[in-house]
Amino acid sequence: MPIVEPSLVEVQRTEQLELDGIDVSGDWNTFLRSRVHTDLDLKVLEWVRSQPQGETISRCWQCGTCTAGCCMHTDFGLEEFNPRYFIYLAQIGYEAELRKYAETIWRCVSCNKCVERCPKGVKVEEVVHSIGSYLEVTGMAKESPADRFDRAYTENLLRRGVLDEAALFQTYERLEGRKTPGRELFRLGLSMLLSGRLHTGPFAHRTRGWGKMRPVLTRLMTEDLRRRRETARGPPPGSGP
Ligand code: SF4
Ligand code: SF4
Repeated sequence: MPIVEPSLVEVQRTEQLELDGIDVSGDWNTFLRSRVHTDLDLKVLEWVRSQPQGETISRCWQCGTCTAGCCMHTDFGLEEFNPRYFIYLAQIGYEAELRKYAETIWRCVSCNKCVERCPKGVKVEEVVHSIGSYLEVTGMAKESPADRFDRAYTENLLRRGVLDEAALFQTYERLEGRKTPGRELFRLGLSMLLSGRLHTGPFAHRTRGWGKMRPVLTRLMTEDLRRRRETARGPPPGSGP
């Protein structure tokens, strides 16, 4: 097999070497640097497996059927979005490689084609999201635009128990630090109003009894995030048996 990665090759040059009358001087004595990784950590696999979304990860036998049918990978040509590879990296605990995909992994559009096709019954879409969550709760992933939208969406929904599209748009603009030109904003607002999707201000819907529900939901979400962060980080040093 040809060596295709020059940086992995360490050349040891031999000058004026003659064997049986034949000059064999040159770069014949080459070695491959070690490719053994010692920085693997199975914590990622254990964490993903412990999540309701990720418990099927260990069933994966790396056939690649999910990636072959994945719409992001094939139809949209995003080659680096490779669910089989994400699962592989999580299975062997190769965090350093996995973190390179911390943003890409959220490009999944939840079409579930992978789940339909997986011969081992892996809930691929859920597992992929679970791996993404691991990168997020351990702070390996920087907050992406998708994360900021998620934050804006959650804040918005918690406020009245129903989505206010205009307020969501404003919050997201603030988080992204951008400002849509007034004319564009007017055109967007008008089209939303005419299509009956502008539920804001006097048109806003409300969920009855939301005042009681909101603190319960907020507490549950905070508690869930805290638990996920703690389990991902592992026990504090010195607390083992
Ligand atoms: S199709 Fe299923 S078994 Fe095959 S690589 Fe994907 S998740 Fe693993
Ligand atoms: S659910 Fe996500 S990972 Fe699965 S095929 Fe669709 S885009 Fe790909």
